[in-house]
Amino acid sequence: MKACIDIGGTKVAVSLNTGAGLELLARRSEPTIKTGTNDALARQVMRMVDEACAEAGLPPDKVQRAGVSSAGPFVLRNGMVELSTPNICGGLAGPARGLPNDWITAPIEAPLRRRFAEVRVENDAVSALEAERRWGALQGVDDCAYVTWSTGVGMGLCVDGRVLRGKNGNAGHGGHMFVSDNDQALCGCGNVGDVEALVAGNAVARRFGADAATLLQKAKAGDAAAIQTVDELCRVMGRALYNITAILDLQRISLGGSVFGNNIDYLLPRLQGQLRGKLPALTDGCELVPAGLGDKVGDYAALALLV
Ligand SMILES: [Zn+2]
Repeated sequence: MKACIDIGGTKVAVSLNTGAGLELLARRSEPTIKTGTNDALARQVMRMVDEACAEAGLPPDKVQRAGVSSAGPFVLRNGMVELSTPNICGGLAGPARGLPNDWITAPIEAPLRRRFAEVRVENDAVSALEAERRWGALQGVDDCAYVTWSTGVGMGLCVDGRVLRGKNGNAGHGGHMFVSDNDQALCGCGNVGDVEALVAGNAVARRFGADAATLLQKAKAGDAAAIQTVDELCRVMGRALYNITAILDLQRISLGGSVFGNNIDYLLPRLQGQLRGKLPALTDGCELVPAGLGDKVGDYAALALLV
């Protein structure tokens, strides 16, 4: 029995898997706990696993493997992952950020290891990449990436068949690459003018006063100003996709996330247009495709860590 745990800045989702097939049992979701001591999030996760076990009629000790797909970045303490996520840990940016805690980190791996025999924690985009490589649009592709264009922008990267992790498991934080001289856009990470600050769902709402869904709806209806704004978003996102293609010599990039996933027909050709013709030796052999798992990528991301 496996516990599949998905930790985001807004929600925590937990489900169980018997180990046979992809079925997720007793799935539940709650707002991410951000009050109390900094082990509150780990305690929330373990309580939710126990509740899932109760719903499924299982003794909790039957669940000994835990896969955790979490928003990053991570820091390591004694080799164990702690979350240093700007949307969870209020101590990073201070009281001005408005979070109800002063956490610098939220320990996750160490407390879970006291509860489960096996624990694997990965960045959510890395987990989604593993799910796409196993069951989705990246099967059989050794040089590939998964890119989510959602509330934030995240990337999981794979070269020569090896998923990149980096010194703290933070490889793929491409949402925080600088791609513009724009000095108006402040990212939650503190950078000004990085990809996430310019094009992420939360940035669109902040910069243009309309959420991404409304903006895209207007563009599709032919509103000239909205079309121009979306073209500009695609120019920035397209540069980010070009950059990782140039650096990693990628063959295929799978795209997901709510901003992209709800507007595939409109956004995909515009993003493809940003790669086409730029240094063809690098870009001609790279295709952009929608995530094969569609809006289920997140559900299977944690499960992919335990296969
Ligand atoms: Zn940033």
